[in-house]
Amino acid sequence: MSRHLIRPQACAPLPNVDFERLKAARPRLWTDPKKTCLTCLKANESTFRWYNQSLGRCDENEIVTYECLCTDQWLMHLWFLNAGIPLNYQRLGWDDVKAVQQPIVEQIMGYAVEGARNIAAGRNLVLWSQAPGTGKTLLLALLCKALMVEGFQVHFSQFNEIIDLFTSSWRDQAERAQWDRRVRNVDILAIDDMGKEHKGRLEMVEAMVDQIVRARVSDAAPTIITTNLTPQEMQEGYGGYVMSLLSETADFIEINGADYRPRRRELTRQETNLGLARPITAG
Ligand SMILES: [Zn+2]
Repeated sequence: MSRHLIRPQACAPLPNVDFERLKAARPRLWTDPKKTCLTCLKANESTFRWYNQSLGRCDENEIVTYECLCTDQWLMHLWFLNAGIPLNYQRLGWDDVKAVQQPIVEQIMGYAVEGARNIAAGRNLVLWSQAPGTGKTLLLALLCKALMVEGFQVHFSQFNEIIDLFTSSWRDQAERAQWDRRVRNVDILAIDDMGKEHKGRLEMVEAMVDQIVRARVSDAAPTIITTNLTPQEMQEGYGGYVMSLLSETADFIEINGADYRPRRRELTRQETNLGLARPITAG
């Protein structure tokens, strides 16, 4: 009997234009699953060792051998990358959320379970905590992946990156227009790490919010944000404007927990020592 991890149904090959755009932006992009594989490394006849997750959860007491479906891993990699989700988060699932209390995790998972209704209602979400490393970004990435599995289009981006792209002088106006359309029209816009450090760029932030967020709010298209600002700070800072637009239909969820990063590093070390390969997963 061989074990496989198959890709979700919603994961389809990218349109050529998206594939070409990724390739242009990333010279080292994984382009051919017949020749290379980020998961099995084409070693041991394309198998890899990982924890047993046959019951939907990762059983950390049992290590098993999987036959790698390199093409499925590749398609998922490109699918997530095209949505802006980097490789490290592609490889993490809900089982990897260790430090956050379960009711909070379930509340966030619940957004995806009721995805169709939440998106139709334009329900925004703000995941906030003042402390760093509590796992806000991980939860945002997992929520994005879960929504993609449900068939929704996601654009995941660092706040800084959005401001940079918004304010940069694009050489190619068509590309600029395409990016604009994408962030305005995508089912879910996920903005990671909206923080205090952007205060010096108030005018740009307000211009961005005015054009992108206003358009999304008036279309009832949800935006999900992580921030180290408190709801009050968001309302007082540039956020006064952001919040008046977003908060009418926003849920604020405080993510408190210990810094999960030291534990994550330790786990990664253990996995490497055990010769395990962490596969790309939808959650
Ligand atoms: Zn493989």
